[in-house]
Amino acid sequence: MTGSDRATTPPGTGGAGTTPAAAGVTTAVVVGAGLAGLTAATGLAARGVDVTVLEARERVGGRTHGLPVAPGHQVDAGAAYLGERHTELLALVKDLGLDTTPTTMLGAGRFLLGREDTTRDGRFPPLNAVALGDLFEQLDVLTAAVRLDAPWLTPDAARLDTLTAAAWADRQLTHPDARLFFPLFLGEMMAADPADVSVLHMAFYLRSGGGIRYLNAFEGGAQQDRIAGGAHQVCERLAGRLGARVRLGEAVHAVHQDEDGVTVHSTGGAYRAKVAVIALPPLPADAVQYRPAPPVRRAGERTARGCAVKATLVYPEPLWRAHGLSGWSVNAEGPLLSTVDDSPADGGVGVLTGFITGNEARRFGALGPREQRTAVVEQAARVFPMLPPPTGLHITDWVNERYSQGCYAALRGPGDWLRYGPTLTAPHRRVHWAGTETSTEYFGLMEGAVRSGHRVVAEVLARG
Ligand SMILES: Cc1cc2nc3c(=O)[nH]c(=O)nc-3n(C[C@H](O)[C@H](O)[C@H](O)COP(=O)(O)OP(=O)(O)OC[C@H]3O[C@@H](n4cnc5c(N)ncnc54)[C@H](O)[C@@H]3O)c2cc1C
Repeated sequence: MTGSDRATTPPGTGGAGTTPAAAGVTTAVVVGAGLAGLTAATGLAARGVDVTVLEARERVGGRTHGLPVAPGHQVDAGAAYLGERHTELLALVKDLGLDTTPTTMLGAGRFLLGREDTTRDGRFPPLNAVALGDLFEQLDVLTAAVRLDAPWLTPDAARLDTLTAAAWADRQLTHPDARLFFPLFLGEMMAADPADVSVLHMAFYLRSGGGIRYLNAFEGGAQQDRIAGGAHQVCERLAGRLGARVRLGEAVHAVHQDEDGVTVHSTGGAYRAKVAVIALPPLPADAVQYRPAPPVRRAGERTARGCAVKATLVYPEPLWRAHGLSGWSVNAEGPLLSTVDDSPADGGVGVLTGFITGNEARRFGALGPREQRTAVVEQAARVFPMLPPPTGLHITDWVNERYSQGCYAALRGPGDWLRYGPTLTAPHRRVHWAGTETSTEYFGLMEGAVRSGHRVVAEVLARG
C-alpha cells in the first residue's frame, strides 16, 4: 500500500486553522478537487481531520477553469456567473481575498431567430410576448409545486418524473414562438436538450436555482456578477491552503471498505482512511468501483451529460460596445445559440463567450477541430457583421471531458429522481457523497457545490 502515510500525517492547514477532530474520524480521503471536494477538505482539515485530496486532472477546479486570453487576463472556460443569493460562495470568495465584478449588459442585443434579424435593447427576444408569458406561467406553476427538500415527494412526482420536457412541450406549447424559444431557454438555463430531462428535473432545477426569473436575470439575478480574474481562483486558493494534501494526477478507480476504514485506490496508489468523501459528478462517481457496492447507484441509463461547449472569441478590445451593442445575442441556429460579453472589467481585451448547448453541443462535438472553428467564426460574422474576425478562438468541450462528463451539471432523465433521489446524500457506510448534484439548493451551480461541501463536513463530524 502506498500513500497511507500521506493520508494520516498531512502538513499544516495554512489559513484553515484547526480544532480537535471529532472522536471517531481522524483521517479522510476526499476524491475530486472541484469546489465541493476542496470546500469539504478545507472544512475537515480545519477541524483537525487528516485529509488527502485525490484529483484525477493535473489541475484543481473541475468545472471551473481559467483560460488565458491575453497577458495578465484569464476568463472562465467553465462556470462564471453568480448572484447575491449565492451566499456560501460569496462568503468563500471574500474569505479568500477575491472580488466580484458585474456582468456587462449595456447596449442592444442581437437576435437571429429565423425571421428578420433584429437589434434591440435588453435580453428578451423579439418573439410573441403573450406566448412567452404563457410559457413562463406554465413553468412557474410546475416550479412552485416542486418539493425542494425532496423532489421525489412532489405531488404527482411519478408522472412528472416519467414525462420528458420535450413531451411536455409538445403537448403544452401551441404557439410557434413558444416552441422555438423553449429549447433555447432550456439550453441556456440547464445546458439541456428537452428530450434528456424529466419534467420533474426541469421544474426542480428551476426552483433550486431561485426560480425562472432569478436564474435568468443578470442584474439582480444569478448572472449578476463574475469573480474578477476567473472563478477557478476559488479552487486554486483553497488548494493553496491545503498544500501537499492535494494530490494531482491521481484518478480514483476503486473504493473498498471494511470494519475499520476505507481504502481508496488511485492511479498513484492506495490510501487508507476512516472515511471517504466522493465529490464527483454522478457519472464519474458511478465509474468508480465500490466494495461493497452501494444499494443504489449514483446515476442510471437515463442520466445524461449536461450539454455545453463554450466558444471563447477574443478581440483586441470589446469592439461591439462602440456599435451600441452589449455582445448579447440569441440565435435559433447554431452553433452559437447565445453570446455574452465576458470581457475582463478593465476592457483591456474583448471577450465574447458563445454558448453551444443541448443537441447543438452534440452535433458540434462530432465535428473536427477545423470545422468547429470555421462554424464559429462564420456564425460570429453573421451575428456581428460589424466586427472583424476574432484574433483568438478557444473551444472548451465539456460534454466530452472524461472527468466531468458534461456540464453545467448532470441531467436527471425519466425515472431518475424517484430512483436516485431518496439516497442522494445518504452515506454508504464510510463513504459520503458531495458535489453540486447532491445539493437540492442551487443544484448544478457553484453555490450548490459549496453547500454540499459544508453539508458533508457536518455529516462526517457527526459520525462521532
Ligand atoms: C461551461 C460551464 C458553465 C457553467 N456556468 C456556471 C455559472 O455560470 N454559474 C455557476 O454557478 N455554475 C456554473 N457551472 C456549474 C459549476 O461549474 C459546477 O456546479 C461546479 O463547479 C461543480 O463543482 P463540483 O465540485 O461539484 O464538481 P466538479 O467541479 O466537477 O469537481 C469534480 C472533480 O473531480 C475530479 N474527478 C473526476 N473523476 C475523478 C476520479 N475518478 N478520481 C479523482 N478525481 C476525479 C474532476 O477532475 C474534478 O476536478 C458551469 C459549468 C460549466 C462547465
